[in-house]
Amino acid sequence: MLSEAVQDYLKAIYKLGQDGQSPVTTSLIAERLEVAPASVTNMVKKLAEMRLLEHTPYQGVELTAAGEKIALEIIRHHRLLELYLAETLGYAWDEVHAEADRLEHAISEEFEERIDQALGFPRVGAHGEPIPSKQGDIDNPRYQPLAELQPGQRAVVRRVSDRFPEMLRYMEEIGLKLGVQVEVREKAPFQGPLLLRINGGRKKQSLGLEVASHIFVEVA
Ligand SMILES: [Zn+2]
Repeated sequence: MLSEAVQDYLKAIYKLGQDGQSPVTTSLIAERLEVAPASVTNMVKKLAEMRLLEHTPYQGVELTAAGEKIALEIIRHHRLLELYLAETLGYAWDEVHAEADRLEHAISEEFEERIDQALGFPRVGAHGEPIPSKQGDIDNPRYQPLAELQPGQRAVVRRVSDRFPEMLRYMEEIGLKLGVQVEVREKAPFQGPLLLRINGGRKKQSLGLEVASHIFVEVA
């Protein structure tokens, strides 16, 4: 049985790679996990000894197949728990992440299977993220950040980041949910906001680029 810390590191490294960070450096890991760089150095050494990752000094780390398998197992727990909390227990989408972060280490394989079954074997989580299968297969459709769209482009919201609860609350307030259609009407220069039409509504909604970089869309 691996410690929670080991599981959190493997998960963070996997997700940084998915976010397009290449190479995944120790400073990126420190930033993501909000820990001191020296702790990351120690843990990376330990994980390399356990053959869960490979570390090339001054380059970065890469999970081995064994490390990736564990990361996907924890991510599967996390995303199934989030969906279960949202769909069955009525949690809001900004509340589920913190609960799942705690519970993901604790649930048994039996519990995981029961949740999976109760939810009808879902492949997409509460924030639109893919749920890895029990065998560790994962579909990873590449959606574009909303921030990259140009005026006149239309798209459907497919995935949002689960890491910022205030952002999720704000998005819900202005009607930005999964499956919603957006059209970029204007984009102000110099990192200015986007003006969006949401679900064909009349009102133009202004959205900062920072928020828009955490929303992933499928362009129509
Ligand atoms: Zn989450």
